[in-house]
Amino acid sequence: MKDATPQPVLLADYQPYPFVVNEVALAFRLSPSATRVLSRILLAPNPERPGRHDLRLDGGGGLKLIRAAVNGRMLDVTPDAEGVTVAAADLPEGDFAFEAEVEINPAANTTLEGLYMSGGMYCTQCEAQGFRHITFYPDRPDVMAPFRVHVESDMPVLLSNGNPSGSGKGWAEWTDPWKKPAYLFALVAGDLVAVRDRFTTKSGRAVDLAIWVRKGDEDRCAYAMDSLKRSMKWDEDVYGREYDLDVFNIVAVDDFNMGAMENKGLNIFNSKLVLASPETATDGDFERIESVIAHEYFHNWTGNRITCRDWFQLCLKEGLTVFRDQSFTSDMRSAPVKRIDDVLTLRARQFREDMGPLAHPVRPESYIEINNFYTATVYEKGAEVIGMLKRLVGDEGYRKALDLYFDRHDGDAATIEDWLKVFEDATGRDLAQFKRWYTDAGTPRVHVSEAWSDGTYTLTFHQKTPPTPGQDKKPPRVIPIAVGLLNPNGDEVVPTTVLELTEPSQSFRFDGLASRPVPSILRGFSAPVVLERATDQAERAFLLAHDTDPFNKWEAGRALSKDVLTGMIAEGREPSRRLIEALGAVLRDESLDPAFRALCLRLPGEEDLAQALADAGRVPDPAAIHAGREALARAIGTGLSGDLSATYAALESRAPFSPDAAQAGGRALRLACLAFLNRVDGGDRAKALFDSANNMTESAGALGALIDAERGGAAVAAFHARWKDVRLVIDKWFTLQLVHGNPAGAAATARRLADHPDFDWKNPNRFRALMGALAANHAGFHDASGDAYRFYADWLIRLDPVNPQTTARMTTAFETWTRYDADRQALIRDELQRIAAAQGLSRNTGEMVGRMLAAKPA
Ligand SMILES: [Zn+2]
Repeated sequence: MKDATPQPVLLADYQPYPFVVNEVALAFRLSPSATRVLSRILLAPNPERPGRHDLRLDGGGGLKLIRAAVNGRMLDVTPDAEGVTVAAADLPEGDFAFEAEVEINPAANTTLEGLYMSGGMYCTQCEAQGFRHITFYPDRPDVMAPFRVHVESDMPVLLSNGNPSGSGKGWAEWTDPWKKPAYLFALVAGDLVAVRDRFTTKSGRAVDLAIWVRKGDEDRCAYAMDSLKRSMKWDEDVYGREYDLDVFNIVAVDDFNMGAMENKGLNIFNSKLVLASPETATDGDFERIESVIAHEYFHNWTGNRITCRDWFQLCLKEGLTVFRDQSFTSDMRSAPVKRIDDVLTLRARQFREDMGPLAHPVRPESYIEINNFYTATVYEKGAEVIGMLKRLVGDEGYRKALDLYFDRHDGDAATIEDWLKVFEDATGRDLAQFKRWYTDAGTPRVHVSEAWSDGTYTLTFHQKTPPTPGQDKKPPRVIPIAVGLLNPNGDEVVPTTVLELTEPSQSFRFDGLASRPVPSILRGFSAPVVLERATDQAERAFLLAHDTDPFNKWEAGRALSKDVLTGMIAEGREPSRRLIEALGAVLRDESLDPAFRALCLRLPGEEDLAQALADAGRVPDPAAIHAGREALARAIGTGLSGDLSATYAALESRAPFSPDAAQAGGRALRLACLAFLNRVDGGDRAKALFDSANNMTESAGALGALIDAERGGAAVAAFHARWKDVRLVIDKWFTLQLVHGNPAGAAATARRLADHPDFDWKNPNRFRALMGALAANHAGFHDASGDAYRFYADWLIRLDPVNPQTTARMTTAFETWTRYDADRQALIRDELQRIAAAQGLSRNTGEMVGRMLAAKPA
């Protein structure tokens, strides 16, 4: 039998569920290969859907139905592949109870959706549609109900959502008073230990906090706990939101498809986003832990108390919660550094998506597999859209709108229309045109030209959004452009002003100026657009030296580096003295935050340069890009060797380790210096640092540098020997060997590492540590032989039947395929077709590969 072609789900087809669920009671008898799940669901007709309706419950193929009953009367029903239907004629009028007993096999569940086992413990992942693999249920976010959960197991720790409401030997009961959709359900049972703390909310509720980990990991939870308490306090102070249960539990799990999950009162985390100590975690890991702990906690209001009506509205919870976690990190650390980091991520992931075959609106209108829409567009661009809204209505308007949102929609499953309406009602602003940010895909290109006469300076903007799959015509959007003007002597003559573009073409005048100013446009990256402006390297160097807006100061240096690099790569030009001198001035400027200086010194990545070349109408050559970037790094290492050495030496820290922003910034700058010095000292400093490092940031940084200098051998072995029992560090060991070193050998290294006994390929972290790192090595992955493409596709085909979700996500390594030369396009197309033809390919992967193959080569 062959599967029918999967049909897309359409936003336009939305209808409320014909029933409301008033209460859910679940009982689990856990057993690795035969878990019994008993459910009792109290339903009533939904007045929004008058008439008699069949009861349709979702339920995946892994469910074995033992019995089902309505109001105690046994039903004779046979589930199909996607669920079970009880005919309207078999249902009483009015309220009724549906009961079912099913059997499931968590030990055989490798997809990591629903109830599965990880390292001997039971855990769940239900977003987006995992609950239907646990029992029959209306598995959609607009069906919300209070849950009571009874768990029986010989595991010592039994957890679920809400508050504990009873326990004894071999059983525990949990009651969640807040109604929630099934995707927020969670259950954990395992041999775990808790690291405990307590938080008192501003109205005086005492909350018991616990982070549950395996024995031996307790000493790596302190930073996550501290981050949690700061998040709880921040949400009270900044958004007026308090926590609403007596307990808040976090569990660390090794096998997890995503970063973490905001299940009500029981967050489940990928262990890499909880466990950290100075010896095992880098500064980047600490920062990510802080931000993801905050993100999942913030969902308690933006996602859980107010959820999404349907999965098309995913950005309602994700865009807003990313925006909130970004604001939190800005407040905890350096706001300019955070903004630059976020824009780097946005450009690397979302702009790339928006320009390719996988482009879709922040609120998509159709999907085949919703798991494929947990994308940078929904998350990161969704957050940018909220940042723009805030810029347009001001801080006060934003706070009023958010207060109204929480008041009006608490307990609701809401939509983007509801969200925009609170802004309209709170501020009086018409957001009809602004809504296009949600409905239209693609990154607008904003071209700017300028004119100067008699003290009047005019900026003229043209906006245009290129076509994306399924959307050819793009009407103009509302684009807030923050602008400041500088005098030629570097003084600011017009402070930051927000201009609102609403037309395809629009001019803005600045009068009464004494001399022609230098403009600083799109300050703070005030809108997620590509700014096109003809300018020269002298002006970029001027802005790098003088701009008062830290984002644009960095941006000027970045643009200057890109200009120089693309000239070197495409036209064989020499490294620019002007750039090297400008970077030297930044390096020496001790009035600047070290973390900021480190960002200014970081050269644009190879992927970024490939996109810049493609934007300029050239076909990127990955080997030439790598060589050009290496040549510039060497020239900087030589040209600034005195300053780099002095800074490197001065930043050697003797203070006890702290993961705080100040120390982390010092280490970031020191490693940025090392990256250049390493090209001229043959790896001597890296060797000394590797031998002396007392923290993972420097240890991993030094190891990467040694591999770059082709002196990795002994250090690679020593690193493995030291950390062989710490999974998260061994993940780094795999990754470092693939993102560093000569790219010509990357595919061979990947093949060798895939044979290593530690390559536990069914673990998503480990799979990504190897395969994701290979794809991130631009020149290595795109080696002209096509060897890396073949190897990568072989592994995707192997992983797909085991874990379709992770496989589908990792196909995006190929999303830029039409950007390259005809030979590489042919090689990649062959691999995509080979994946598409794989026996029993999942719906997840099939959808992704199909969308990519539909792209027209440039
Ligand atoms: Zn989220």
